[in-house]
Amino acid sequence: MISKQMQAQVQNSSVIRAMFEEGKRLSAIYGKENVYDFSLGNPSVEPPSEVKTAILDIINNEDPAAIHAYMNNSGYETVRDAVAESINAKYNTQFSRNNIIMTVGAAGGLNVILKTLLDPEDEVIVFAPFFGEYRNYVSNYYGNLVVIPADTADFQPNLEAFREKITAKTKAVIVNSPNNPTGVIYSAATIIKMADILRQKQKEFGSNIYIISDEPYRELAYDNIEVPYLTKYYDNTIIGYSFSKSLSLPGERIGYLVIPDQAADAEIIIAAANIATRILGFVNAPSLIQLVIARCLQAKVDVEAYNRNRELLYNSLRDFGYDCIKPEGAFYLFVKAPNNDDVAFCNLAKQKNILIVPGSSFGCAGYVRIAYCVPYNTIEKSLPGFKALIDEIQLK
Ligand code: PLP
Repeated sequence: MISKQMQAQVQNSSVIRAMFEEGKRLSAIYGKENVYDFSLGNPSVEPPSEVKTAILDIINNEDPAAIHAYMNNSGYETVRDAVAESINAKYNTQFSRNNIIMTVGAAGGLNVILKTLLDPEDEVIVFAPFFGEYRNYVSNYYGNLVVIPADTADFQPNLEAFREKITAKTKAVIVNSPNNPTGVIYSAATIIKMADILRQKQKEFGSNIYIISDEPYRELAYDNIEVPYLTKYYDNTIIGYSFSKSLSLPGERIGYLVIPDQAADAEIIIAAANIATRILGFVNAPSLIQLVIARCLQAKVDVEAYNRNRELLYNSLRDFGYDCIKPEGAFYLFVKAPNNDDVAFCNLAKQKNILIVPGSSFGCAGYVRIAYCVPYNTIEKSLPGFKALIDEIQLK
């Protein structure tokens, strides 16, 4: 028999993945072009050409024994140098290779840092709506997830509720901005207030509380909105970055952690995270793709393609009468279910071959997530279905 913990995790296994499978089933019946699959955050924009050039160049010109070898569990020194330099140049920080640990995407990075920090029963705070996998990542290390309910007015974190929920057992707060599933960017004002609250609470409890900033969408911000770099606002910040969306490489599994020197116990955390990378079974982030991203740190995907999708979907749904806020980043739109029942609404949408995900998977029932990382004409073709859905509900 499988473990009790795993039994629960199988039971709650991702609704998003289930919807993705449903998309494949419907495509086989109706044809791919007649199914509007907005379920998964799989980038629709191709990786920048620099990625292919780097892969070919490395394969053709570098020593094969070196490029596929084991290395320091934290990653190649040269790659970590390049990553640190690029962060320093962008954000005026002072990181070195010692602060960087290459990871198996953001998911790998979050698991490494949670394994490093958590004792059983330690509390990890998240702000609803949040990426549902945090539930699993925290329970992997027997931590307790503490959810701060959403402030649906603007989907910025509810900081008064946050203040109340911090206890002596709070070890970390996961912040995700630009946010999956709302597309909201947490403002500098929000981050300043959050940091103030955390400093007060650390004093009150004589503890260290870490912000873990989960940043796969950092580069996907629209209208030149600034995404604050959190190490500048709060010393005990650890960044988890990913190239899954910024370079459209989700299957390659590559990202990094930044553990700044000014974080409390930084030295021991860095050493432990290196070991966590190994003993979780990752050993190290994939070698070839580490070398590739080191050459592509200036490269960018075509964010404008997502922006066009955002404008079309947001403006159309608003015209039809849907209630939603305009995303500032990432590639998700979080929409109020017009019948106030997210699961029922997703089922109704499925009948029109539109696949979307209930907000309850993100700890925010009554809303649905539409991942608009799809071809533009998928959105165009889906619009009559979205209109019919809300019209039918309003007729009842
Ligand atoms: N965190 C958030 C908020 C995400 O949306 C995702 C993926 O969609 C991840 C982490 C995992 O990203 P990665 O593919 O880099 O592991």
